[in-house]
Amino acid sequence: MAGTETKCDLFIDGEERAPKNGSYYERENPATEKPFAKIAEGGPEDIDEAVGAARRAFPKWSRLPAGERAKYLLRIAQALSDNRDRIALVNTRETGKPRRESAMVEIGGSIRTLEYYSGAHTRLNGETLQVNENQISLTVKEPVGVAAHIIPWNFPLLLSFWKIAPALVAGCTMVIKPAELTSCGIFEVAKICSEAGLPDGVLNVVPGEGAVAGQALTEHPGVAKIAFTGSTEVGKTVMRTAAGGMKRVSLELGGKAPCIVFADADVEGAVEACLRGGFFNQGENCTAVTRLMLHEDIYDGFLSAYLDRISRIRIGDPEDPETEFGAVISKEHYKSVMNYIEKGVSEGARVIAGGDRPREIAKGHYIAPTVLEDVRSGSTLAREEIFGPVVCVMPFKSEEEAVAMANDVEYGLAGGIWTRDINRALRVAKAVKAGYLWVNTYGGIIPETPYGGFGQSGIGKELGAEGIDNYLETKCVNIFTGESTGKWYRG
Ligand code: NAD
Repeated sequence: MAGTETKCDLFIDGEERAPKNGSYYERENPATEKPFAKIAEGGPEDIDEAVGAARRAFPKWSRLPAGERAKYLLRIAQALSDNRDRIALVNTRETGKPRRESAMVEIGGSIRTLEYYSGAHTRLNGETLQVNENQISLTVKEPVGVAAHIIPWNFPLLLSFWKIAPALVAGCTMVIKPAELTSCGIFEVAKICSEAGLPDGVLNVVPGEGAVAGQALTEHPGVAKIAFTGSTEVGKTVMRTAAGGMKRVSLELGGKAPCIVFADADVEGAVEACLRGGFFNQGENCTAVTRLMLHEDIYDGFLSAYLDRISRIRIGDPEDPETEFGAVISKEHYKSVMNYIEKGVSEGARVIAGGDRPREIAKGHYIAPTVLEDVRSGSTLAREEIFGPVVCVMPFKSEEEAVAMANDVEYGLAGGIWTRDINRALRVAKAVKAGYLWVNTYGGIIPETPYGGFGQSGIGKELGAEGIDNYLETKCVNIFTGESTGKWYRG
């Protein structure tokens, strides 16, 4: 482990613990390829202890007045803010993303999510229904129990807080299984939450392999609800496992977002937004603009401005505050993205930007922002999730053709529409099969809005008022207020 700077253990019942099997693995910094951390490889026994701790903490935490629970969210938000630079650096070293994105998006977005859900305690009430003159029915919202949070590597902190914040305010306790590649930031977050006063056992973290620790967590009979973000393939496994225990399940899965730019669009604005939409977080973003659909009348003008802006993106050391574009998450992922580019070329697409590692960078898993044209709708590049800095540019002639191309995938997570014609914007928004759309802007998922996909992109919503429903059961209490309920049997 020579050169390793950071150790990431388990966090269970308010304390740091080594894994029962004593096993650790090494994680490199993807931008330097140097060892960055040794990470505990949690197993089923650790999961059992973590779920046990969460179950013991549940009665007290869930009975706390919701307004009291909400105060913890604000305390955690403050603690995150106080530790912003330190945690952002950990996040950058484990993901390869630029430090300013770690600070603004991962930490800043987490703080916003906590602040938003701290107000949700005022909305945990049910309804009173006067069903008829002799019956009042009450709906009561109750926390579902212990929640399992399974997190991917692309936004390890932000996506954790999209689950942690509503779960806490709803009254749930939880076990978090971070991604193998990005466990360190969440381990730091668990310690921060504890320092901010969160009671022991409310939030537990068990790093480890998905097929081992993740599987054990989703199978555990003490877990009532699984909130999963990750690939569609693993999401299906999680759903099958959840069925065994009839666990509540929400799934945020892959995407292949289209962005449709009509001829009447503000082209300058669209270029800028599509640039950010495609290459923010090195394109390792489930809502990334992956299929840039341009009306034929603006195709050439748009493309020349877009390629010019791409050539000026500052690629480099993610720890340098000036850097705008860092390394992809791992060597394996680098290979996977490069294979997609090669496959695209073999299917007839043409690389018009990037397509390889940036020449000036010798070390690290860097892929230059890549653009391909002549990509056929329905081809591998246009259909499969690449999850890297690769954008396919596709021309269209008519609104109908654009909508058909946009919907020519199994995913349905996000998309963008650029036009000055409000009727067209609304018509196309209705026709595109995706759960989260932007019109005349792109990117930015704010905690106030419900977010989630259609089709192979998942089930359920996170964020917004609906996001808290993931962590609540609705109980209906029917109260008879009349004189007699009458006789069913006559004898
Ligand atoms: P992944 O599916 O490989 O892993 C996600 C998590 O599941 C990891 O923590 C992993 O360890 C765990 N896991 C793996 N096997 C498991 C099993 N059998 N049981 C339980 N857990 C298991 O995904 P990834 O590579 O970490 O992330 C990239 C994917 O995530 C992309 O497909 C991306 O689109 C998706 N994603 C979706 C959203 C969204 O909001 N819809 C957001 C971010 C990422």
